[in-house]
Amino acid sequence: MEKLHVAIFPLSAGMGHFLPLVEFAKRLCHFHGFSITLIISKWMWKSQQPALLERLASSALDIRITEIPHITEDENEQNVKIATRISMFMLKAKPHIEGVLQSLCSSSPVSAFITDLFCTELLDVTAELKMPSYIFVPSSAAYVCFMLHLPKLVSEIKVSFKDADFEVEIPGLPPIPARDLSNSVQDRSDFAFKWILQHASRCREASGILINTFAELEEEAMETLSTPATPPIYSIGPLMFTDSDTPDESRCLKWLDEQPPLSVLFVAFGSRAVLSREQIRDLAIGLEASGHRFLWVLRGYKSGDSSSLETDISQLLPEGFEIRNKDRGLVLLNWAPQIPVLSHPSTGGFLSHCGWNSTLESVSHGVPMITWPLFAEQKMNRVLLVKQIQVAVDLRIESNGFVRREEVQRAVRELMEGEEGRMAREKMKELKDKAKIALMEGGSTMKATANAATDLSQKPSLTP
Ligand code: UDP
Repeated sequence: MEKLHVAIFPLSAGMGHFLPLVEFAKRLCHFHGFSITLIISKWMWKSQQPALLERLASSALDIRITEIPHITEDENEQNVKIATRISMFMLKAKPHIEGVLQSLCSSSPVSAFITDLFCTELLDVTAELKMPSYIFVPSSAAYVCFMLHLPKLVSEIKVSFKDADFEVEIPGLPPIPARDLSNSVQDRSDFAFKWILQHASRCREASGILINTFAELEEEAMETLSTPATPPIYSIGPLMFTDSDTPDESRCLKWLDEQPPLSVLFVAFGSRAVLSREQIRDLAIGLEASGHRFLWVLRGYKSGDSSSLETDISQLLPEGFEIRNKDRGLVLLNWAPQIPVLSHPSTGGFLSHCGWNSTLESVSHGVPMITWPLFAEQKMNRVLLVKQIQVAVDLRIESNGFVRREEVQRAVRELMEGEEGRMAREKMKELKDKAKIALMEGGSTMKATANAATDLSQKPSLTP
């Protein structure tokens, strides 16, 4: 019997968008016998991505990789908010993706197309080709509730959210300060707002919405989304990229082997965030003052040059920091193998920017968190972590975005030795078990994935 063929365009920018959708492609092949064409752009490519795709291409899975031509940007296009930058990129990438889809359809039927929430521009292409399209959301079900409600919210509230000094009610979420809604929608005069509003309106056109979450983690949001007015929803997470052949990162894992169980705080801010030099200094001093062990992934710009990353750790840290902390701290430049670190028995806490993938990875490994949201929808994730599921210690961020050293020290101690930390750890343990069950045969995620697989194969494309 001929295999079902699905085409996928993952957003290349940001590992948090790219990796989980590639992981879903692997699951469709592995568990449901699909044949996948992965349409790739190398725009904003991270250094880890080429090797990772090479390994995927040479694996036993039926995944073919097709690359679209390189998309160039001028300087003006680079100096805008990321949501705008992605949308500008998509306008240029659209004809190339259309070309690939047309050529795929002429050789073998494509039963469905999957792309990222920020690529709704492609819904025009698939409508033309009469190809069912699914939107992949690399964030929470709560975020989907927010996106679906956004057009109504915008019509009801007449000012920019950044100027709204009140909480808003969004079905599926606890009351949330308007200023904690996603960064991209804070300022109505910014292009990013227009683009996000467009994605929010258009995602209802999709044949279904695939969310990287699991039902037991977000019961209220999933309940809200289960109405006939919403496209079919599939909670297919946690999708964590498994790549057994990652390069040798044994240094930090060996270091973790030598630390007592649950004693180390992991400090990392995802794949993109860069802290200022002043913030790095206060974080360093706060960590040191907490007296706890830490493994810190540090990323900072070269002095006086906010476009090049510093390659010498000692240039970023306070004088003498490394020597003073050599017995209880390890600082890595730019990158660490986050999933192995979170699954290590010595890791007892995670100070995180609350990126959704980091959140899911922490939940799946039962590691309680300290919340330090920086951008995108991370403040919304904080609300979920602190208020709704109560698995994190909150960190006080000043109105100018700065976190003071005393606050770092307080939050680390609270998480690692306080009552709040103990309760968060217990709740995390429960969620870890629930995540594991969701991924077992008969579990909620495996059922949702099977439902998605059935629906993805429902309507083979008509010849355009
Ligand atoms: N990541 C990693 N090592 C690092 C930093 C990040 O492996 O040092 C991975 C992390 O495991 C996660 C992804 O990169 O899967 C980051 O995604 P997230 O949504 O948390 O944040 P973003 O990078 O989108 O800000």
